[in-house]
Amino acid sequence: MAFRTLFFSALLMLLVPPYSLAVAEVNVYSARQESLIKPLLDRFTEQTGAKINLVTGKGDALLTRLKSEGMNSPADVLLTVDAGRLYRAQEASILQAVESDDLNRLIPSHLRSADNQWYGLSVRARVIVFAKDRVKANQLSTYEALSDPQWQGKICVRSSSNIYNQSLVAGMIASQGMLKTEAWLKAFVANFARPPAGGDRDQIKAVASGQCDVAVVNSYYLGGMLLSDDQAQQTAASKVTLFWPNQKDRGTHVNISGAGITQSAKNIELAQKLIAFLASNESQEWYAERNNEFPVRDAVKVSTVLESWGPFVADTLNVTELGRNNAAAIMAMDRAGWK
Ligand code: FE
Repeated sequence: MAFRTLFFSALLMLLVPPYSLAVAEVNVYSARQESLIKPLLDRFTEQTGAKINLVTGKGDALLTRLKSEGMNSPADVLLTVDAGRLYRAQEASILQAVESDDLNRLIPSHLRSADNQWYGLSVRARVIVFAKDRVKANQLSTYEALSDPQWQGKICVRSSSNIYNQSLVAGMIASQGMLKTEAWLKAFVANFARPPAGGDRDQIKAVASGQCDVAVVNSYYLGGMLLSDDQAQQTAASKVTLFWPNQKDRGTHVNISGAGITQSAKNIELAQKLIAFLASNESQEWYAERNNEFPVRDAVKVSTVLESWGPFVADTLNVTELGRNNAAAIMAMDRAGWK
């Protein structure tokens, strides 16, 4: 009997390769808040048995940390917002290129890095919001038209140090060229109602309170305010309407939140699986609904608030261009006096 037990344990040891004794793990550095990503990571763990260690932080702080950790970084995956920031990570040699048929199939080519270094996982639109009682939709058309003198002293927008604005201008440089963009910037800045201050929600509040008539903001902030438990935010949001700019030409400027695999990654295969999981229909629906963003593919269902804003034409410029033109955009905004 004892011999048989011994025999079978020996046999078992031969059959079970040593690597299966360790639990597969992926270390994720995320600039998205825990509440926006943790439930999905938990679902991935349920489905695969892989353990995910999540570190959250501010976008720029995570980049600095990854740079200083270099090849010793425990991170396998970087999850962050804005193509401009993902491009910075790429330029700082933090990420590595991965070839994945799954990712290429799931994520449209204009929403991922031209060198396969990062992949878009949600889409955010930078839109115009206007005061319902003072502005009519037919007064609006494009971002470019916000330089018109009719908007003098009537525009609110956050600071040029904000990457969303940098990417908006970078996209304009890509489509209109530097000369036109510079001329537009000067006239646009001259129309500001006040020196830039606060975040996108504050611009919406400023329109609601009559400080300005129009603002340029990411649409999910309006969605978040409309659905907020905070009565003041809800009331402010209800006083404005969303306008989709540039519907007759290149489409509304869009950006992404996305992920890339680090150079230091120990578990590339599992990291890739995780990114593909986040791009799956199931995750896309949850992700978009939770933060009022748009899925990376049209076929995925969107939330009621998003649906109420109707379909829109999105710019199909490759988001890599937003990163490529980032430095030029910052300089041009600075020259135009956009604080
Ligand atoms: Fe944001």
